[in-house]
Amino acid sequence: MSEDQLLCGKTIGIIGGGQLGRMMATAARHMGYRLIILDPKPNCPAAQLADQQIIASYDDIDAIKQLGKVTDVVTYEFENVDLESAQYLAQLGLLPQGTKALEMTQDREKEKHMIKMLGQPVVPFQMVRNLVELKRVMKELGLPAIVKTCQGGYDGKGQVTLFSESDIAKVEVLLQEEDRLIYESLVNFDCEISVIFTRSADGKIIYFPIAENQHRDHMLHMTIAPARVSQNIFDQGREAAKVIANALGVIGTFAIELFVKGTDVYINELAPRPHNSGHFTIEACNISQFEQHIRAICRLPLTPVVFHGGAVMVNLLGDNLDPYFSKIDQLERAHIHIYGKDQIQAKRKMGHLTFVDPNRDQLLMTLKDQQLI
Ligand code: ADP
Ligand code: MG
Repeated sequence: MSEDQLLCGKTIGIIGGGQLGRMMATAARHMGYRLIILDPKPNCPAAQLADQQIIASYDDIDAIKQLGKVTDVVTYEFENVDLESAQYLAQLGLLPQGTKALEMTQDREKEKHMIKMLGQPVVPFQMVRNLVELKRVMKELGLPAIVKTCQGGYDGKGQVTLFSESDIAKVEVLLQEEDRLIYESLVNFDCEISVIFTRSADGKIIYFPIAENQHRDHMLHMTIAPARVSQNIFDQGREAAKVIANALGVIGTFAIELFVKGTDVYINELAPRPHNSGHFTIEACNISQFEQHIRAICRLPLTPVVFHGGAVMVNLLGDNLDPYFSKIDQLERAHIHIYGKDQIQAKRKMGHLTFVDPNRDQLLMTLKDQQLI
């Protein structure tokens, strides 16, 4: 044991109290840590499982100072937290993840340039600041394309897909609010995958099984693990992850989303935290992405990952809660997760279901037969 290891009884602060914070909190609770959540929303999903909540916005520096005083270590549940707050905590030595990965992943322009600089494959893209540039880039990169805001986007928010010049008007709306946008080619991919791993402070990387992700309206709908891709794609995904993780000095759980087309992969985006497509690890592996994250930030040794063979995770949005629960008698194999959000909304992530079986293809067939997927 070394002095900087944080054992049970210590207090972990989490900035952001949504479902990712809640699942981190669940893992940390099992391990005997105390938890304090900072989130503007009273009784947010993570706070329901914590010892205390500081109700404040992420950039409220007094609240951040208070969080620093009462915690032994701090982490964040997603990348849209305030960078200056994170820098303050990092200076106090309370944020083992540091701020480099956060800074890069908060801004799609910085993120994509960094990935390119590291020699890793990204979808062709260019920056667009006004209508003239948009029209020029549209000629250069062609259609169809997708235009994205650089900051604050998640679950497809801040994105416009362009199929013809008549869609320019939709980008004009975005340009009224944003000073720069990313224009990227729309990839006709075979599938999407994610590489999720945890890196320890001493640079050791442990991977989770690579997941295959199906989106609806740009939001994750279903994850299938392991992904139905070749070993070569697995190797490319993990190699890219390693290069990026080492360059950013990642500590904790981290996810890389990729598009697979033929024998090639393209990195779509990075997430410096546990990821929706890794929820299956809670029941389908001997250790979850959340527990491994807590281990990393508390400097406990990482656990070698053992996978039970196959898993399917389905997100429960507001509008598919009733359809699934009306089939509750068929859900005997489903691990049910509900996040404790106050209001049900159609496109809001309310929970998820995970099905585990040693045989992925058998599991997929059974779930299809039962019309559960
Ligand atoms: P978010 O931060 O909202 O997750 P992403 O860039 O990951 O943003 O986009 C969400 C989803 O939209 C992707 O998972 C993918 O399904 C689709 N998408 C995004 N960019 C492209 C692209 N260039 N080509 C094809 N599909 C894309
Ligand atoms: Mg994404």
